[in-house]
Amino acid sequence: MTVKISESAPGTNGQEQGSARTRDGWRLEPHCCRACFARIVSRPDDAGRLYQCTNCGAQAAGHKPDVVCACGTKLRRHRGDGRSAAQLVDAGIRCHQNKRVSPEFPALFVASYGGAQAADDE
Ligand SMILES: [Zn+2]
Ligand SMILES: [Zn+2]
Repeated sequence: MTVKISESAPGTNGQEQGSARTRDGWRLEPHCCRACFARIVSRPDDAGRLYQCTNCGAQAAGHKPDVVCACGTKLRRHRGDGRSAAQLVDAGIRCHQNKRVSPEFPALFVASYGGAQAADDE
């Protein structure tokens, strides 16, 4: 006998239309991975949300995508007084929509210093 494994209702339901949510709860984030610049997805988690890279699989839980995305890129900066170790400061890199999608660089979302690409188009 045949066992039907189908979660989707027969016929059409337009409920998924316009939603970036996948069936198992992952949601596309407008952010890209700090390591490989692929798109980040997230889903609810005990600690807030679980953010994961769709390409390299890097993942972390948090309340903002910057736990894995390029927005969270930190630079090591040494303090002038020489007393304490280097501190991590925000590198100023921000994810944003790629306004110059091209065959060479087709990513929908990119990261640049201060979101520079987005700014100089406006
Ligand atoms: Zn990645
Ligand atoms: Zn980001």
